[in-house]
Order: sequence, then structure tokens, then C-alpha cells
Amino acid sequence: MAGILAHDISRIMTDSNKTPKSPEELQKEIQDFIKDKFGGDVVTFPVGPDAMENPPQAEDQEEVLEIPEAVLDFDMTPAQVKAYLDRFVIGQDEAKRTLSVAVCDHYNHVKRALGGREEDPGDALEKTSSARGPVSDYVKQNVILLGPTGVGKTYLIRILAQLIGVPFVKADVTKFSETGYVGGDVDDLVRELVRSADGNAAVASHGIVFLDEIDKIAGAQNPQGRDPSGRGVQVGLLKLMEETEVNLKNPMDISAHLQGMMQGGGPQGPSTINTRHILFVVSGAFSGIDEVIEKRLSEHNIGFGAPAQKAEADEESSILQSVNTRDFVEYGFEPEFIGRLPVRVALDELTDNDLYRILLTSEGSILKQYRQSFEDYGIDIAFEDSALQAVARKAADEKTGARGLMSVLESCLRNFKFNLPGTRIDKLAMTAHLVEDPGRVLEEVLENPAAAATSYYIYVAREFEAEFARRHGVMLSLDDNAVQMAAGKSTEQGLSVKDYLWSVFSDQADFLQKICEKTGKFELPVTEQILASPGSGAESWFDS
Ligand code: ADP
Repeated sequence: MAGILAHDISRIMTDSNKTPKSPEELQKEIQDFIKDKFGGDVVTFPVGPDAMENPPQAEDQEEVLEIPEAVLDFDMTPAQVKAYLDRFVIGQDEAKRTLSVAVCDHYNHVKRALGGREEDPGDALEKTSSARGPVSDYVKQNVILLGPTGVGKTYLIRILAQLIGVPFVKADVTKFSETGYVGGDVDDLVRELVRSADGNAAVASHGIVFLDEIDKIAGAQNPQGRDPSGRGVQVGLLKLMEETEVNLKNPMDISAHLQGMMQGGGPQGPSTINTRHILFVVSGAFSGIDEVIEKRLSEHNIGFGAPAQKAEADEESSILQSVNTRDFVEYGFEPEFIGRLPVRVALDELTDNDLYRILLTSEGSILKQYRQSFEDYGIDIAFEDSALQAVARKAADEKTGARGLMSVLESCLRNFKFNLPGTRIDKLAMTAHLVEDPGRVLEEVLENPAAAATSYYIYVAREFEAEFARRHGVMLSLDDNAVQMAAGKSTEQGLSVKDYLWSVFSDQADFLQKICEKTGKFELPVTEQILASPGSGAESWFDS
């Protein structure tokens, strides 16, 4: 086949009856030709000026020999890694712990294998591709993640890769076939990693490869359906996960070769990349594996006459925690394949409360995105607590993990995003009422923008009150007139309402605490008069 292709391609290139073709035209024609001939994505390659003007090789020669600083500098404890993950990933405590340990082990090992900082980077690279020293006994900490969709499997690994500073690629295993003639070849994963490292093979050779839907290549026992080439893909992956040299140019990717020819000779980086330091993480929902585990546990219990373990594994997530190699083999994986994935982590379903905390506390909360997209139209949006709880409850019903948050928020706010920009409405509070009946609230807001602004200001004032109480142990309670006044004053002074309220009350904290002590009150009502002059309001607090 390659011979026929080569012939056809040379015909396209040497078609002398026509005007000379630019490299882009040539690439495009060849791509169309291959598509016609084989359909789909047999090969992929960049088309367009960038692809031709920015070849990834020669100029990166220096860089190619560089060992990633990030890896050499890696110096974190598992507890530090977990603390970082905690800032973004809510729940999944066990998974965060296990992954933190696995990742620290892996990169400490890589560092040791590279010989630490002192070693000449060139030598270190040499070692990564040919070392056979004592470190070769090391069992790589490749990971299997089990768990339903949208619970943080990819998110965890992506954040880990960012933290360590190594490239990361994700792919669905279903797009690979045993041979690579249809769909991709598993080696493409490694090439993709090189691309995501801007062509730097040394950096890529310390990256992380994430393969989703791995359960789809389990064998016949898998009730979800059998992929006949699954075993072949497992074998291909097995080699990658252990150690192999991957050719940086896909032998099937004619365009890459063509591009090489067009660019002429010149200095080249390494032509292969060794996979021994690439961390592989595979993941899947593994539906049905709970039954396999349960069966094993109950057989075990019959054998020992003790029914206790079944009860222990009542919840699906806790059943998954007990998964072992035998269960994966029973599920249809090759024992050698599973043997290369020693770290097993089961992730839990996310509860309403987890989803609420994701919105409220995760540094990656999608609310930031929504706040930003409204701000882009000059609209301030506030999210009431009861609204966030309602969103979380609805999202939990969708059974798509944290992805449900996005779809619920989108369906609540889509029409607001469409209708409000360009109007004079610049304040919106997302209330529980809005979550329940967005259409109705949109009509109300459009009819009465002032009321919409008021509910926004009231929300912001409540936020200020809660923060003040947390910091100073005094609960201020602004009435509606005080809130309106704060809104007006803050606009006059070019401050946000919250900043304005802090400017009024932050110097008063000691005084307010004393009032509380003397009066035995915890909550101090704030009227317009008090807002105008908090010191003079003391009397009214003593009177009331
Ligand atoms: P999957 O488990 O299917 O790989 P992802 O990790 O891609 O799901 O999750 C989708 C998105 O949902 C993430 O990008 C992240 O924003 C959010 N998310 C999922 N789980 C969590 C979690 N436990 N904590 C915080 N955010 C999460």
C-alpha cells in the first residue's frame, strides 16, 4: 500500500502540466487524496502556512537536548502535592492521597535516574534512552482510575501535570486500533506528547499520557461489548507503558515524511523517544466490574464462612476500592497489561454537597467563568447561596458528575446572556427563584431593571455581613434603605459596594465588638443613619 501511495503522491508533486504548487497546496491535495482513498483520519498533518513556516525540528536542536528543569527541580512531598490538589479538586480524598504518592514516587525516581542536577543534560538524555543501571528494576507507578464520568479523573491528572510542569495528553483509547491502519496507532500518543511539548522530545519523555475509556478494550467477559482488536491495543500499550523507542515520525504519516523532504536536510533532533519515564494513566467507568468484585468477595466469604466483606462493600464506590488484578483479568484485560498498572484508584460519585462545594470553593469553579462572561458585557452577577445549592441539586440529578453543573448553569443563564447585553441592566443576582424559573425571572428583570439591581445589591450586602461576622464576630444587618444608600455612595466613590462597606466599617470593628459585649447583642441592625455615621448609631443599639 505504501508503494501505491508513494506513486500517487509523487504524481501529485510532479504534475508538470499545471502551474507550480505551493507547499500548502501540495499538502492539501495530498491530504484530500488520502481522505478520498481511505476515508477518515488515516493520517493527520498540519496544513497551512504555520505548518510550513515553523517546522518543529532544526531551530529547537538546543532545546531538544535539555532535560526539563521542572523534573530536575521536583521537590515536593506527597502531602504538599495533595494540599495543592485540594485547592481545585473537591472530595476524592483517597484518590488524591494515592495519586500524590504515586506521582512523587515517579518523579523522584526519574530524577534519580537522570542523576540529579549535577549531571550534564546531554548525558542525562543519553541515560533516559539507554540506561540499564540499578534503576531499571523500578516498577513504574502507572495508574488506573476507576469511576463514573465527570468526577475529576482527568482534572486530577491535568492539575498534577501542571503542578509538576510536564506535558500532558489525553486520548480515548477507542480511537486506536491494533495496527494503526484505521484510526490511530498507540505510538501516536507519544508523538502527541512531543507536540504538546512544542516538539521537545526530552521534555515529552517525562510527560503524562492519559487514556480514557480503557474499559472499552477489555475482552469478551466485558458485558459492554467486545472490541476484537482490544487485545492488540493492550499489547501495544503494554510496550509503551513499559519501555520502548517510539519513532517520532509515524511511518504511516506520509505528510510528515513529505514535510521532511520539503524542508531538506539540516540538523535534526532525536528521531525516537524512549517511553520509560512517561507516566501512563488509564481511566474508565468500568461498569459491571462491581459485580465481578462482589462475586469474588462472596466466593471468598463462602470459602471462609464469613459474610462480613459483602456488607463492607455495600456502596458501589467502596466496592471499587477493593478491586484487584484478578478482577481486572476477569473483566477481560490481559494480566500483563494490568500488571503494568500497579496504582489503582477508585473515585467516588459526587454528592449534592460535593457539587455545591465545587461551585463555592474550588479554585477552578466554573462560576468564575460565568462571572467573567457577564463582566465582558459590563454586567455584574452575584450568585446567592440558595441558588448554588439549587444548581448543585439539579446537577446531581443529571448523573454526569461536575459536568452537570455546567449544563444546569447554562440552561439557567443562557437567555440572560443573550438578552441582557446591550440593555441598561448591569446588575444581576442569581437567586434560587431564577434557577427554578429562569424564563419568568428574565421577564421580571427586563421589566424592572431597578428591582434586579436591588436584589444584586442586597446579595452583596449579605456577603459583606457574613464576611464581617467571620472576621470580627459581629453580625451587621443592613436594612433595604441602607443597602440602597451603600449602592448610591459606592457608585459616587467609584468603589464596589463591598469595598465601600468595608471602608465604612473596618475601622469600627473594636467599637462594634464593645457594643455587642455591653448590650449582649450579636446582631446590630444598620439603618441609613448608622451607615452615614456608625459612631453616632451606638445609641440606637443601646435603646433597641
Ligand atoms: P472525568 O472524571 O470524566 O475525567 P473530568 O475530570 O474531566 O471528568 O471533570 C470535568 C470537569 O468537572 C473538570 O474539568 C472540573 O472542572 C470539574 N470537576 C470534576 N470533578 C471535580 C471535583 N471532584 N472537584 C472539582 N471539580 C471537578
